[in-house]
Amino acid sequence: MPDPQHTQVVVLGGGYAGTVAVNRLRRRPDIDITLVNPRAEFVERIRLHQLVAGTGSATVPYSSLLGDGVRLVVDTAVRIDTSARAVELAAGGALPYDYLVYAVGSTAGDTAPVPGAAEYAYSVAELEQAHRLREAIDGLRPDTPVTVVGAGLTGLETATELAESGRPVRLLCGGLLGPSLSAPGRRSVARRLARLGVDVRESAVVAEVRADAVVLGDRTVLPSPVTIWTAGFGVPELARASGLHTDALGRLITDETLTSIDDDRVIAAGDAAAPSGQPLRMSCQSATPLGAQAADTVLNRIAGARPTPIDQAFIGSCVSLGRRGAIVQAARRDDTPVNVFLAGRVAAAVKETICRSTLWQIRREAAKPGSAVWLKGGRKAVEPESVT
Ligand SMILES: Cc1cc2nc3c(=O)[nH]c(=O)nc-3n(C[C@H](O)[C@H](O)[C@H](O)COP(=O)(O)OP(=O)(O)OC[C@H]3O[C@@H](n4cnc5c(N)ncnc54)[C@H](O)[C@@H]3O)c2cc1C
Repeated sequence: MPDPQHTQVVVLGGGYAGTVAVNRLRRRPDIDITLVNPRAEFVERIRLHQLVAGTGSATVPYSSLLGDGVRLVVDTAVRIDTSARAVELAAGGALPYDYLVYAVGSTAGDTAPVPGAAEYAYSVAELEQAHRLREAIDGLRPDTPVTVVGAGLTGLETATELAESGRPVRLLCGGLLGPSLSAPGRRSVARRLARLGVDVRESAVVAEVRADAVVLGDRTVLPSPVTIWTAGFGVPELARASGLHTDALGRLITDETLTSIDDDRVIAAGDAAAPSGQPLRMSCQSATPLGAQAADTVLNRIAGARPTPIDQAFIGSCVSLGRRGAIVQAARRDDTPVNVFLAGRVAAAVKETICRSTLWQIRREAAKPGSAVWLKGGRKAVEPESVT
């Protein structure tokens, strides 16, 4: 039975944002904290391309990440009933809350506009999809090429990881290789791809995906028994399905304190949040501080204090290019790239350290709630955009 003197906080989604949030909420002993997540293990999404290529695993037991007293419910939220302040679960029943943290992350992107993509293309965005993709690749002859569609950061990481492990790879960029990188950064990545033997088609746009081929905009048909779709992420429909305001993608719209514009008992963080309708780049780089800031908003509201606006800066993007290469692309605090980057094995070591530090940050917050720190000064006051 919940202690009637305690505040009930339910956190939906045990990714980077949600796990930091639950650990930080432990600053107050009079909160009962419940984490709802569909799997009993934490998924290191930033290593899913390694799982696919067989160069690493991507799951970590929650027991090594969550602080004492956090209750894990392995289930999926199917509806948020804000008037009853309860979360309905797929397995049945509902969890009541005083405050809800919405941290359900992101999913594979929408493939709908491209015929055949939803049926035949594979994704690396979620654990189960990555396992399916790995099985499909394992079923191919070693010399059969796979096709990666999309040359954003996830496409680059996936293509290079597979190529370095010996798989022939074709990369269809849809117009530009690494659009978020600086021009010199892009050239460096192109050199690495060439060294790994990746067949890069920068201008190729995919018009159709078939079970055994991709068809380009100019109607060229390329044989492809395994096509991997990495062109953008989507988000779960939960906020929209629960009648909350979202942006066009489905991210929950909040104010600058991460509080839902519909209900001040609902706070969002990570990839599924759109503060002022102007979301930060989907990344664990932003999800982790947003999780901490969402927890701080809840703690302030419980204490009757004014929640503070989010404030965090980017430092750049760090992209693995196989295990022996990477690019660390420096950026201004607002995430726009500058012509400064680090490449090669040193960058690969930096990238690996950063990947490890994501778990280290979660564990540190578990050991010492309130300890997470992040670079500030990146977000200027924003004017809310229109909502849907
Ligand atoms: C292959 C790959 C490589 C990447 N590399 C990088 C990188 O190098 N650097 C970087 O910064 N970012 C990287 N990213 C992006 C990064 O992983 C995400 O931006 C990050 O995971 C977002 O964190 P989050 O906490 O918002 O959500 P997530 O980590 O996605 O966690 C959300 C959790 O919520 C759960 N959930 C979803 N719906 C529900 C529901 N209805 N009820 C309960 N729980 C639910 C999900 O199952 C998941 O466990 C990469 C992503 C991929 C796929």
